[in-house]
Amino acid sequence: MGVIGVDSPHGTDKLPSYEGKDPFFQEEPWCVYCHSRPAAGLRCCSGCHTAWYCNQTCQKAHYVSGHKEICLLVAQDVKRVKKYAAPLRKMRVNDVLEDYFETQVGDFGQCPKTQMYLAARHALMDTYETAASEVKIQEVYEKALFHALAVLRLDAEDGIETRYVAPFILLNLHPDDDAFDFIRYWMKVSGQETTEEFWVRLQSEEGEWTYPREKDCRFLNIYQEVPAANEHNVPLAFLMAILIIKLRIVATYDATCRSIDLAFQTTGGRRIHMIQNAVKDIFLGDRVKIIENQRQQVE
Ligand SMILES: [Zn+2]
Ligand SMILES: [Zn+2]
Repeated sequence: MGVIGVDSPHGTDKLPSYEGKDPFFQEEPWCVYCHSRPAAGLRCCSGCHTAWYCNQTCQKAHYVSGHKEICLLVAQDVKRVKKYAAPLRKMRVNDVLEDYFETQVGDFGQCPKTQMYLAARHALMDTYETAASEVKIQEVYEKALFHALAVLRLDAEDGIETRYVAPFILLNLHPDDDAFDFIRYWMKVSGQETTEEFWVRLQSEEGEWTYPREKDCRFLNIYQEVPAANEHNVPLAFLMAILIIKLRIVATYDATCRSIDLAFQTTGGRRIHMIQNAVKDIFLGDRVKIIENQRQQVE
């Protein structure tokens, strides 16, 4: 979550705009220890591929100051996924060798022999998410998302409940619309027979995003989007993710208003104040009209 006023050089009365994202989030890797980006480039930790360094001194310092634990865990989880995947690539079915990753996509949840693999892959996703929350680098969140989407493709019914983790990866990574799209999809298919999107997911590439995207859907009300949903049957994880989406919208709006107010206060002059509301309307557009609705959804 972003922190209002954190970069303020003049105290709390100068508010930067609030984007709702972690202010430390990095689209490009940097040295996770000293936060530099040397021209000579960075080296990636060969143990986990989730941390980058400018030199060995930073790498060693980071390793002993706490990276060791997650580094070993990533390596161990990657190994376990490979170990459980290997036999599934050559399963003997009616005396014919079958690659489950080609023939059983979507049905992994139904098959007892794939359970250990699914659990290992889910654990790897979790570990990448933990690593990402430490280094705040986009590529590491993307690794977590890749494995989440891959598990949801292999086990279309999601018996191990990967769907409750994915929205929080998305909230760190993508526009919040994706998180809303994802939740709406899973709310709609819950208890339903297979839908068109379901088949699209099974035919997708590993880790591919197959959920229907709608621009600005984060403003929508989940209870209106999914008529079967009510305050008792929306899973807690989804409810929390939606709450974060809504709070970000309200907070962004409030911060923008304050920035505009502040700009006018510091420019001074009575006539400027007269056009203040008109300017707010230009900047915020239709969002002014629906922001009260967002506040109500939060409540
Ligand atoms: Zn460094
Ligand atoms: Zn490492």
